[in-house]
Parts: sequence; structure tokens; C-alpha cells
Amino acid sequence: MENCVFCKIMAGEIPSQTVYEDDEMVIFRDAAPIAPVHLLCVPREHFAHLDEMDDRRAALLGRMFLKIAALQNQLGLEGGYRLVINQGENAGQTVQHLHIHILGGKTLPWG
Ligand SMILES: [Zn+2]
Repeated sequence: MENCVFCKIMAGEIPSQTVYEDDEMVIFRDAAPIAPVHLLCVPREHFAHLDEMDDRRAALLGRMFLKIAALQNQLGLEGGYRLVINQGENAGQTVQHLHIHILGGKTLPWG
């Protein structure tokens, strides 16, 4: 989608440190990390919110979770990790393209 920073990253228009990609998702490093490992798992399909999901998108989100779990050691998350999906303004969702924050690499405080 036009003017979406994640769509531009996936189109190669904005550089990123990609650590995994396939035909339906990309995992790249957050440009402003808040943990030693801070990655974003982003579906190639542009949609912003969970309430825009249908069964097909729900299955895609499920595959994103499976992929994160399969790659956890390779991504430096052996000691555990936290997944966060911010939804809307109150949650601080700054990019209106659904994404899963993957946080790890140290003991994380809550919040
Ligand atoms: Zn997008």
C-alpha cells in the first residue's frame, strides 16, 4: 500500500536488515530496538488490524507464529522471547500494517 513503510521495506524501497523472508512474510530488525533482539514479523499482505482478519488471514497469522517458533534459536531467542501485536493508537501502533514484535535476548521487564 502507498505510504506504508513496511510495504516499502518489502518492496526494497527502504533498506532493512532482513533475517527471514518467504512468499507470505518477512522478518526484519526493528529500526529502533528496545531489546537486544527486536524483530518484526510482517505479512506481505497489507492490513492493519486484527478485526480485518478472516479465516485466510488468521491461518496466515498462525503460520507466522509457527515460523517464529521454528526460527527461535537461529534468531537468538534461545532464552525465551515475547511477542507483541500493538493494535491502534492507545497501544502505540505506529505503522498501520499488522506486525508482530519479537523481543528477546535478555530478561524482559513487564510492559
Ligand atoms: Zn503495508
